[in-house]
Amino acid sequence: MIVRTRLAPSPTGYLHIGNLRTALYAYLWARHNEWQFIVRIEDTDRTRLIEDAVDKIINTLTIVGMRPDEGPHHDGGYWPYIQSERLYIYAPRLHQLCDDGTAYYCFCTSDRLTSLRTEQEELKLPPRYDGYCRHLPIEESKIKIAEGEKYTIRLKVPKNEILVFNDTIRGRIEFNTNEVEDQVLLKSDGYPTYHGAIVIDDHLMAITHVMRGEEWISSIPKQVLVARALNITLPEYAHLPNVLGADGKKLSKRMGDVSVSEYLKKWYLTEALLNFLSLLGWHSGNDNEIMTMDEMIEQFEIKDIHKSWAVLDPIKLDWMNGEYIKRMEIGELHARVAKYLEEYEPDFYSHIFSPRDYNYNTRIITELQTRMKRFEEFIPLTSCLYGDAWVRTDLMVNVKMKIETVEQWIEALRFVLPLLISADYTTLDTLKVNILWAIASSGLKNWQILWPLRVALSGEEFSPGAFELAYILGRDESVKRIQRIIA
Ligand code: GLU
Repeated sequence: MIVRTRLAPSPTGYLHIGNLRTALYAYLWARHNEWQFIVRIEDTDRTRLIEDAVDKIINTLTIVGMRPDEGPHHDGGYWPYIQSERLYIYAPRLHQLCDDGTAYYCFCTSDRLTSLRTEQEELKLPPRYDGYCRHLPIEESKIKIAEGEKYTIRLKVPKNEILVFNDTIRGRIEFNTNEVEDQVLLKSDGYPTYHGAIVIDDHLMAITHVMRGEEWISSIPKQVLVARALNITLPEYAHLPNVLGADGKKLSKRMGDVSVSEYLKKWYLTEALLNFLSLLGWHSGNDNEIMTMDEMIEQFEIKDIHKSWAVLDPIKLDWMNGEYIKRMEIGELHARVAKYLEEYEPDFYSHIFSPRDYNYNTRIITELQTRMKRFEEFIPLTSCLYGDAWVRTDLMVNVKMKIETVEQWIEALRFVLPLLISADYTTLDTLKVNILWAIASSGLKNWQILWPLRVALSGEEFSPGAFELAYILGRDESVKRIQRIIA
């Protein structure tokens, strides 16, 4: 059997972080088993469409390295992949259900449906269609249609039947059909509803396995009934537990549920984000949390997916991103930082970063490699290295460091200035050796000299260490900064 999984996004928004986690699992599941991964666009809700969403969704998947095998961008023999282009497929099949007696034509106007809903709300009853047209003889319905009356097609849900369904993650789930309303399958505008289209599409596109969020579990009984009416078999379903925000509530914009492109553009490395998402509800049993895509594919098993909800923890995501930065080869990191700056900080890039020589920038990036968690920290962390340091007087005095007056602070700089002039800047270590030796032989403590030096070179409360700064800035710039302050 050729096994095929699909992602079926609706272009009512861009790909969000929760959708990407679902997509990733479907992709890992497919690739682990050497299956096919397909994208189908579900755009039957015409009122909520966003114009360029389809391209953006496919682009995002491609950028993160999960390019689908088939979809609107690439025909794999099941064209078209966008539901609005498949209307000719749904209508005859859904009309046939009315002839078969498993669905029926409904002529209720929206006014009638609205007042029915209001009545039910007042009586505190669940909003549900009351079956008004359910028993209209089919011949009578056909006459109404021929006369031009507007209609929908509704599923004729049997009464009081227990439907049993087996979910790959959750196991056996039961539904009583009394809880299910006569769902509209074809709308009066000729478009199918989600329930009308999905079962037909999954069948015709030979989808064998579906992975999707658990919010879709409630749609299962309708899909079971539609499949039965159409006399087709449903694919195997795996409903994934939700991803919650750090506050334990549904993901919201504030809690990080923003579009994936936002995450990638500004904040995170693709490989770190995917690795992080893979762990939101899955654990391979392997202690090593840092995994490449190939390792995730190799280790991904449905049985290791958790049943409980996952929480999106931004601190862990930052940590994961920092780990990827730490492990990156320095040339690659330089290239990525440069690309980031060129795109998001073009002024800094063209006036400050790129005019500097490659070695200067590389020394700075090397120094930041173990400390930077996101590229957006690059400018704040390095402003003192690219610009002139200007020292606030409140930073000069530090009682804890036993520097109680500005004069004392200047005294320390006077001590270190000749050492900076004569030091060997070949490596960070050669630079350290002589200065540390001179401090020790004068009977001083390192911090008495290094703290004023660090503040003087950086002008910041927090910055790389004194030696790192001097090494990156080099002899001329370091000496110039100290001399200027003493003067
Ligand atoms: N179109 C649905 C969505 O937007 C997909 C539901 C499904 O996968 O069956 O998420």
